[in-house]
Amino acid sequence: MPSSIIQAIRGMKDILPTEMLYWHYLETTVRTVLESYGYQEIRTPLLEKTELFCRSIGEVTDIVEKEMYTFLDRNGESLTLRPEGTASCVRAGVENGLFHSQIQRLWYMGPMFRYERPQKGRYRQFHQIGVEVYGLATPDIDAEVIAMSHRFWHHLGLKNITLQINSLGSNQARIIYRQQLIDYFSAHYNALDEDSQRRLQTNPLRILDSKNPTMQTLLSAAPKLLDCLDIESKEHFEQLRLLLTEMQIPYEINPCLVRGLDYYNRTVFEWITQDLGAQGTICAGGRYDQLVEQIGKKPTPAFGFALGVERLIALLQQETINLPNNSPHAYLIIVGDASTRHGLRLAENLRSQLPQLRLLTHCGGGSFKNQFKRADKSGAQIALVLGEDELQKQEITIKYLRTDQPQICVAQTDLADYLKPFI
Ligand code: ATP
Ligand code: MG
Repeated sequence: MPSSIIQAIRGMKDILPTEMLYWHYLETTVRTVLESYGYQEIRTPLLEKTELFCRSIGEVTDIVEKEMYTFLDRNGESLTLRPEGTASCVRAGVENGLFHSQIQRLWYMGPMFRYERPQKGRYRQFHQIGVEVYGLATPDIDAEVIAMSHRFWHHLGLKNITLQINSLGSNQARIIYRQQLIDYFSAHYNALDEDSQRRLQTNPLRILDSKNPTMQTLLSAAPKLLDCLDIESKEHFEQLRLLLTEMQIPYEINPCLVRGLDYYNRTVFEWITQDLGAQGTICAGGRYDQLVEQIGKKPTPAFGFALGVERLIALLQQETINLPNNSPHAYLIIVGDASTRHGLRLAENLRSQLPQLRLLTHCGGGSFKNQFKRADKSGAQIALVLGEDELQKQEITIKYLRTDQPQICVAQTDLADYLKPFI
């Protein structure tokens, strides 16, 4: 009996070569901007101890309650595939002494794992590019990081992405606000959905983050956190607004913006698009001054964000963007056994002389006609033909695959010089 075909896990998808052009474009563009601001890359393991995420993200959050891929390893230790990058970054920084009287501007890129209901823009394995800054408590860095994310969209050629900001204030301000919210929502208990009723006692702020359309009117009439802010947080927020205006970055204040993770304080922000349907948040972050201390080190102010790569790619695919071409410059056609030996050597020499040359060598034999078809399909500009005739004369015939130019013969010793202008 033939065995059935094994498919990828639900919510996890392959990124095929045709899609890769978008990924490379995005990664290169974002990396260039990050480096232009002096950010350094960090790579951490995909697996961490489960406790790290419980302690940092918060016990009563969607992620920790129901979205983590958690399992016992062969030693009986509880491990979790990282659902986000900030906790790992803090863990790595503490463990390697990166926060010791130092300012760190870090970034990372890679897959994250969340057991969510798969839908457009929402996957169980997805990718984030994240940025974390440690050691700066003042609003200038909040503004710089937001400006940098703004620059990503600009350099990628994306428009219609709007910025929403809010302030969550200090812990004390949130305690006062929490009580106001409990009073308000208790008075409207029956209008709350099941999740929100449960959260009323455990984490009432997260009710504001609910996506449930039937609750939106109730949410917009709720007391506002901005009205409870402590003086310092108010001042911090005012400064941030001033700096954003100074840098000509438009923003809206969204008093319901609380973010899905517990570790934020003061500034929170999201970049939102209307062009992707329900999953419109492409980038989100904020300030998290208590997290480093929570993970076990002396207090270190921090600010960061993560952007959803798949959502950005979906946006790029909707735009007409000139992606850099990565098809071969030349396709080497080889006919005859003797030519094969010589052809492979010739190709190696060319690659040594012209490291930037994208040269596809025909392998597998076949007629001229067949090889030309493949050359054409490869997207190469020119075909380099090595047949018995060329082998004898130590020449190469060059055929132009995209223009009407007549074919020419070039001495093999001159070939590298001849190919230079095509690169
Ligand atoms: P959402 O409200 O969409 O669930 P979130 O608040 O859980 O997002 P964060 O944890 O802040 O998101 O992650 C930052 C970004 O990563 C999001 O704005 C989004 O672009 C992307 N993202 C989050 N979860 C997923 C997912 N399951 N699939 C694809 N992208 C995701
Ligand atoms: Mg989520």
